[in-house]
Amino acid sequence: MSRKVAKFGGSSLADAGQFQKVKAIVDADSSRQILVPSAPGRRSPTDAKLTDLLYLCQNSAALGADFSEPFRLVEQRFVEIEQALGLEPDIARHLAQLRGELVKGVSADYVASRGEYLNGLLLAAYLDATFVDPVECIVLTPNGGVDPSSYAALGARLAEAGRRYVIPGFYGADQKGQVKTFSRGGSDITGAIAARAVMAELYENWTDVSGLLMSDPRIVADARPMLEVTYAEIRELSYMGATVLHDEAIAPVREVGIPIGIRNTNAPDAPGTLIVPVHKPDSRHAHQIAGIAGKKAFSMISVEKNLMNKEVGFGYRLLGVLEHHGVSFEHCPSSIDSMSVVVETAQIEGKIDVLLDEIRNTLQPDKLEYTPAIALIAIVGEGMAHVIGMAARVFAALRDAGVNVRLINQGASELNIIVGVAPEDYEVAVRALYAAFVA
Ligand code: ASP
Repeated sequence: MSRKVAKFGGSSLADAGQFQKVKAIVDADSSRQILVPSAPGRRSPTDAKLTDLLYLCQNSAALGADFSEPFRLVEQRFVEIEQALGLEPDIARHLAQLRGELVKGVSADYVASRGEYLNGLLLAAYLDATFVDPVECIVLTPNGGVDPSSYAALGARLAEAGRRYVIPGFYGADQKGQVKTFSRGGSDITGAIAARAVMAELYENWTDVSGLLMSDPRIVADARPMLEVTYAEIRELSYMGATVLHDEAIAPVREVGIPIGIRNTNAPDAPGTLIVPVHKPDSRHAHQIAGIAGKKAFSMISVEKNLMNKEVGFGYRLLGVLEHHGVSFEHCPSSIDSMSVVVETAQIEGKIDVLLDEIRNTLQPDKLEYTPAIALIAIVGEGMAHVIGMAARVFAALRDAGVNVRLINQGASELNIIVGVAPEDYEVAVRALYAAFVA
């Protein structure tokens, strides 16, 4: 029987009520056998995340200061969950041990990892599952990535099909066997590693939203969730500012083609978003586009020179000036006698005058123009660049909204059409595009 890995985020396990929802989700599908918990998250917008409290305890303890207040909150949260779920009391013993370790002096990574560790113990007891400590089988590289040997080591620990396992998220061991955490939010990475380790049929990521949205909800208030999106589309959207899973969390499963389902613990019947290697013809991919994302903080440098197309090495020299100043470029639209480069504004801050001087001296252009602020919007969808009429719809929507298009870029990747607009037109343009393709 194929197995699913289900990772539950901090808000999904913030209190006993949330644990009950998680149990109902796990019980509803017998293939959900490998469960990856985060530490308890916020119960309300003003609440503290348990991981933050643990960092606070370690910080104070390391300075020899009193850490009793944040530690009391940590204890309270775990004991409350244990009692409300009617579990055999055991957590106080682990907390007492942690207090002692804090006094003696332990690393911040170790203390932070205890949020997932203790929540994992509670979840394993509640679901009658086998607890697997990732410090014994997940190895992190010195730069915080996953050592590929982890897949086989963890796979061996999760070998028995039909058994439920709980493996805490967020940490593993360094090369010396000491506890080391991933970056914040790293339980998503653990979930992906576990899915890869057992070659799961699906990696479910349970959170508190009903999937990834087709556009930024701060701009498009009623943005719909994407039903299905490919890994490549996700990458384009996240690069252009959409908040999705980190690349590190996607890589382990993407490399072997395991799909990811983003689901809502508080609305388990909502379909959520399925991230897949490719769209199948009969899939639930409902719209011609996956989504619309964008960012405001770009700048553009444009040069014009008569007979530029005949001048060998013109583009090379223009990009060479950027390289010389350590600036990487995002897009490079060109015509016969002109060429522009779009760069992130932050990259050229404090350097722009020198850059323009150097371009002037090196290239002797007829015209040199600098646009300090331009917003880029990507309309993303696999194969859309090959569908007749897509570009016409983009430009008709922008024309009808009274937005002037400053730049057009349709990547050879066939994944997106990118338009550049004045920053003050950005929101209007995103809403107009959303209405044209989705609403
Ligand atoms: N608890 C950790 C954090 O707050 C990791 C996670 O939740 O994924 O960053």
